Amino acid sequence: MCEYCNRRIHAPGCPNAPEGKQVCRCDYCKDGIVKGEVYVEVEEQIFHRSCFFDYIFSIHEDDLLDLFGLEAVTTGEDE
Ligand SMILES: [Zn+2]
Ligand SMILES: [Zn+2]
Repeated sequence: MCEYCNRRIHAPGCPNAPEGKQVCRCDYCKDGIVKGEVYVEVEEQIFHRSCFFDYIFSIHEDDLLDLFGLEAVTTGEDE
């Protein structure tokens, strides 16, 4: 387990991650994310920054709300 990122496979920003090497895989395009690249981490998933926005627009509205832990409320309904 890494002392910096607490993972078996280093997080892309981890100082222990090998320079210029693929440190993890983008969950959207399935390409590698190289150390130094900008990435976005949501829940357990990691995306290239640009892939993250593609991903956001590709998923269903309801799943999007779940992803951010939000709830769609209908006005006028009693709990
Ligand atoms: Zn690490
Ligand atoms: Zn990607």
